[in-house]
Amino acid sequence: MYRTNTCGELRETHIGTRAILSGWVHRLRDKGFVVWVDLRDRYGITQLVFDQERSPKELLDLARELGRETVIQVQGEVIERASKNPNLPTGDIELLVTELTVLNKSLTPPFTLEDQTDGGEDIRMKYRYLDLRRNPVKDKLIFRHRVALEVRNYLSKLDFIEVETPYLIKSTPEGARDFLVPSRMNPGQFYALPQSPQTFKQLLMVGGMDKYYQIVKCFRDEDLRADRQPEFTQIDCEMAFVEQEDILNCFEGLTRHLLREFHGIDPGEFPRMTYDEAMARYGNDKPDIRFGMEFAELNALAQHRDFSVFNTAELVVGIAVPGAGDYTRKELDALVDWVKRPQVGAKGMVHVKCNPDGSYKSSVDKFYGQEDLAQWAEACGAGPGDLICVLSGATAQTRTQLSALRMELAGRLGLRRPDEFAPLWVVDFPLLELDGETGRYHAMHHPFTAPKAGQLELLERDPGAVKANAYDLVLNGNEIGGGSIRIHDKQTQQTLFGHLGFSPEQAREQFGFLMDAFQYGAPPHGGIAFGLDRLVAILGGQESIRDFIAFPKNNNGRDVMIDAPAAIDSDQLGELHIKLDL
Ligand code: ASP
Repeated sequence: MYRTNTCGELRETHIGTRAILSGWVHRLRDKGFVVWVDLRDRYGITQLVFDQERSPKELLDLARELGRETVIQVQGEVIERASKNPNLPTGDIELLVTELTVLNKSLTPPFTLEDQTDGGEDIRMKYRYLDLRRNPVKDKLIFRHRVALEVRNYLSKLDFIEVETPYLIKSTPEGARDFLVPSRMNPGQFYALPQSPQTFKQLLMVGGMDKYYQIVKCFRDEDLRADRQPEFTQIDCEMAFVEQEDILNCFEGLTRHLLREFHGIDPGEFPRMTYDEAMARYGNDKPDIRFGMEFAELNALAQHRDFSVFNTAELVVGIAVPGAGDYTRKELDALVDWVKRPQVGAKGMVHVKCNPDGSYKSSVDKFYGQEDLAQWAEACGAGPGDLICVLSGATAQTRTQLSALRMELAGRLGLRRPDEFAPLWVVDFPLLELDGETGRYHAMHHPFTAPKAGQLELLERDPGAVKANAYDLVLNGNEIGGGSIRIHDKQTQQTLFGHLGFSPEQAREQFGFLMDAFQYGAPPHGGIAFGLDRLVAILGGQESIRDFIAFPKNNNGRDVMIDAPAAIDSDQLGELHIKLDL
């Protein structure tokens, strides 16, 4: 028997009993006549004591030599600690060791395995198995487990069943590139790894499963923007005989349950905002509504003077930055430089300082008087002591730029508090999105999304104006879930494929199986998918998803621990009938 108890288990009530523990040597303090060892496992730390008076000399000598992270087994008596440690759950006791076995030695770890480590990201990822021993990482994985379990229980109680769908499939159009897997048995042919189980979950509805969910890996080969992973996990769901309202209610319930369970808060009914409104008020389809700083469109107020920059702009839009009215010249210049960075891309920024005495000082005083500026301030909701930042230009770009500035400044002002949760639904997304490069429309969500009732004929006249039965669940500025009511008849699906530029043959080739299925009594259905990694990170009050994933990949999509991706030998390539052309 390796252990009678874990290292987090022994308490005052165990005093006088014997115990066997196994774990890692976390820390060692050698006072000469006494040696203390902190023994660690997943459950906690127990202090071991070896001393001159009560332990045999050989045992004391052996203990003294123990290196960090050595795996040992000890047996001894649970005794009361002379100086108790109230910060440790096991802090009232220690184990007076009578037997010590070294189970496995350890090299010196390349970074300290403490809560605060000296190890940088690269070295931590290379030795992730050591990093996992640290509390902050371990606790995040346990938290993820608890969230996933809660999701499973909640959905299961609502009659959802978890069904696994295959990983070796044909392309699913979620807007990214596919990861491909060559088929040895079918030379020249490839599987694609699922970008999501989209078509399968719809087929499960045709199959009568009624309510499906799956906590499932998805794979998207895209250039990795910050904090994205090429493989990630979704809580994927689909329901039959539902309208949008049913889905929103069901998954608002799940989200509310998680917030209550993990934070003891009930955010009440989630606000709903149309896509158009979100773009106009926040310049973003996933607005962070933990704080205000809403957009105020200033065209009517600002386009009647001689300031040609504003006069020629499609949109003039401002935000009030609370308490920033005392920014220095230098700070304002830095802000202008910030919006001009290529990542943001604004040409410049106009500012108005709302002075405490009720007067205004702006970078465009030459063109606008105090009364004009007072009107701007009113429109933006700016009061004395605030700063107004105004951007102008083409509508879509300017909104994106101001949204970036809004988020940046809110971050600097501490308004994006991780312990505050502000969920909302964004609804009525456009069905199609124009690709600026190709000039072609593609599905904003995916091509199986149903247009809003009665909008199908608008597809011919004004495709960009058609709204979809699509919705996103947004939490603290992150899209944590998204889904739609689906098309469930062959004709509509075919029409939409046509609008997306598929010839009937191409549509048949890629999605014939789905359109065939729709001819055999497909029920009306719809669904949603949550990004589990992000959801868990937000619930855990963290910005980054990385430590909520046991073995994440780096920004180049590499696993630096196992060193993947890697070249494969020519025999293996030959078996797959692949010749490299590098
Ligand atoms: N398949 C979609 C996605 O991965 C979600 C959905 O429509 O249910 O974003």
